[in-house]
Amino acid sequence: MDIKASLDNIRQSLPESVTLVAVSKFHSISELKTAYDHSQRIFGESHVQELLVKKNNLPDDIEWHFIGHLQTNKVKMIVPFVSLIHAVDSLKLLKEINKQAEKSGRVVDCLLELHVAEEESKYGFSEEELFELFRSGECDNFKSIRLRGLMCMATYTIDQEQIRNEFRKAKTIFDKIRDEYLTAKDQFSILSMGMSNDYKIAIEEGSTMVRVGSSIFGERDYTSNFNPLE
Ligand SMILES: *Cc1c(COP(=O)(O)O)cnc(C)c1O
Repeated sequence: MDIKASLDNIRQSLPESVTLVAVSKFHSISELKTAYDHSQRIFGESHVQELLVKKNNLPDDIEWHFIGHLQTNKVKMIVPFVSLIHAVDSLKLLKEINKQAEKSGRVVDCLLELHVAEEESKYGFSEEELFELFRSGECDNFKSIRLRGLMCMATYTIDQEQIRNEFRKAKTIFDKIRDEYLTAKDQFSILSMGMSNDYKIAIEEGSTMVRVGSSIFGERDYTSNFNPLE
């Protein structure tokens, strides 16, 4: 994979207002460094241990986004440095992030994961659960969290219309939350949706942040014993 050429290709197809998160999970530190040397500064990881190893071996001006499912017992390991947590999917997790962020003297940016896909998933809030969360006023208590927006994943399908409909629904819900429930509307400005196979549709439907992995770094090899240092 020619990482620099892939980055150029993708950057050319993104409007200036859309942020590119280079999803680097299961790719080596040297591959990340190649992207870094081509001025990529935002990287997305989904495993805490892997993220820690990479952070410790790469330049300090990288913004690390955590995009995976985050277990509450691992929150404290990433809260001191993480730039954005994408997939917050429960009140319990919000509480733990808030607690650990307060301990580190930080205010941590977070997105709430919205479940729009057809597939059954343990993760993510439904539309109703999100409205209920905002109606309850519970989020106002999290002084060490800044809620920046929503994140979602479309169904894994070749049906482009279905993907489009799911992204469209997410955008509608995002707008409704911002317009009807929030006082700090300006800070609720990130809609993280779109991956290698569907980021173009996501942008057409209002995404402001795309998470692209394999189109930059190539296919991930989940079978070998992965070591980011090799
Ligand atoms: C792995 C992953 C991506 C990137 O997927 P690609 O298809 O490789 O672009 C994006 N978002 C999340 C949440 C991921 O886990």
